[in-house]
Amino acid sequence: MQSTTHYCYHCGTHHPAENMRQIETAHGGKRWRCITSIEATHQDEKARDAFGHRETELNRDEAEAKHKNGYAP
Ligand SMILES: [Zn+2]
Repeated sequence: MQSTTHYCYHCGTHHPAENMRQIETAHGGKRWRCITSIEATHQDEKARDAFGHRETELNRDEAEAKHKNGYAP
């Protein structure tokens, strides 16, 4: 039994078709990309989001601390 592979433009190599998704590029073409690389990108985005939320919370804490200090007796 011969398994189908597609060229993954992200990795620059071939993967089994069942591990890949066909996605449309900005230029209207269709390309294959492996699920592993797609999920890795999503993980990166989640990590960036989490970092952004932490930054926002830190800034808010700092602002509250300044506010409290300003009105402290
Ligand atoms: Zn790949």
